[in-house]
Amino acid sequence: MSQPPPTSAFAPTPDPLTPDRDITHAHFQAGDTVVVLKGVAGGELWGDAMRVVAPSWHTPTDEDGWRLRDATGGVQSYITGHPRYFVHLSRRCPDCLIYLRAMENALLLRFADRDKLIDCGWYTTTALGQLVHIADIRGGR
Ligand SMILES: [Zn+2]
Repeated sequence: MSQPPPTSAFAPTPDPLTPDRDITHAHFQAGDTVVVLKGVAGGELWGDAMRVVAPSWHTPTDEDGWRLRDATGGVQSYITGHPRYFVHLSRRCPDCLIYLRAMENALLLRFADRDKLIDCGWYTTTALGQLVHIADIRGGR
């Protein structure tokens, strides 16, 4: 494991925490601002900030999800995600902060020597506007 990571800006990296994160649907509510973590940039985690709009069924996991509005999403401005993908931005929230810190601990050192924006490749969006974590695709249909 002494090999340095590849220098590509796209770095498929196992997500150490999100698939097992225990967070309820009710943890979020319409109007919250959240971020979906996607990688590392300049020594910090980065992701897409979105606004929680309304409850919506997340078909990839067959569980309750949330409809999100991504102001920079273009044709896919509205997507549906699973609560465990989200981190609160709009309020300081101990549950989300613990997850954020753990993700930082797991990832920042790994990419510490790189200035580029690193996309860890965890998320895709389906044609039906469902945001899916890679772990939920493998486990699904
Ligand atoms: Zn939270």
